[in-house]
Amino acid sequence: MIKSNATIELKNISKEFKNSKVIDGMNLFVKAGEFLVLLGPSGCGKSTTLRMIAGLEEPTSGDVLIDGENLQKLSNDGHVIAMVFQDYALYPNMTVYQNLEYALKVHKVPKEERQARIESVLGTLNLTEYKDRLPSQLSGGQKQRVAVGRGMVKKSKIFLLDEPLSNIDVQLREKARDEIQNLHVMNQQTIVYVTHDQLEAMALGDRIAVMDQGIIQMIDEPENIYNNPTNLFVAKFI
Ligand code: ADP
Ligand code: MG
Repeated sequence: MIKSNATIELKNISKEFKNSKVIDGMNLFVKAGEFLVLLGPSGCGKSTTLRMIAGLEEPTSGDVLIDGENLQKLSNDGHVIAMVFQDYALYPNMTVYQNLEYALKVHKVPKEERQARIESVLGTLNLTEYKDRLPSQLSGGQKQRVAVGRGMVKKSKIFLLDEPLSNIDVQLREKARDEIQNLHVMNQQTIVYVTHDQLEAMALGDRIAVMDQGIIQMIDEPENIYNNPTNLFVAKFI
């Protein structure tokens, strides 16, 4: 069993789709309990990177290590990684409550514990009054919050979020950002958070990895990214 949070290591990862190289020799070490933001323009390979960390996509070459171990060894343990997908991927015929409960049932979390976790997360995300609705009866922002909640209830060692606030309106977004930050302070999960929004990255990241064209152009604390960009792309993008 892994301890309460886990390191992530990408060793010389490349990923090709039909001979086009989407990720090009990426190396990345995420510390245990770190909040790392992957920031970059659309199409630069952020989602692909996240999916490889989650084990949903196989690298063409290179290794993904979680706490120094190969991902395959961990794939049956649902408490290691939770992921929030860019397109929500909610179960359409389950209510909000059932969407949050599903993975906990699969992993045999006892009923009372399930209930306590789900109610707490529904409260945190202002979703309590929607718990009996189906995804089709929710707005885009509400669906996105359910997707975040479904990741939160798992209390996994690693939490991967793919543009989780992109469809939440500006007023709610700052609040949701605070909630994700509070969650991190409380649970000390290792987080990889994907966004194309510079302000969001600055507000949330312990470190920011700025990506372009399948390569990490610079990785550092927000302050250094902002004040001392090491190349032209980073300077322009920030
Ligand atoms: P981002 O999340 O930064 O917007 P993605 O990781 O989704 O970028 O995509 C990076 C590139 O890889 C894009 O050019 C995209 O079209 C391509 N790509 C992603 N997934 C696939 C796939 N399954 N098959 C073919 N090309 C893909
Ligand atoms: Mg993406």
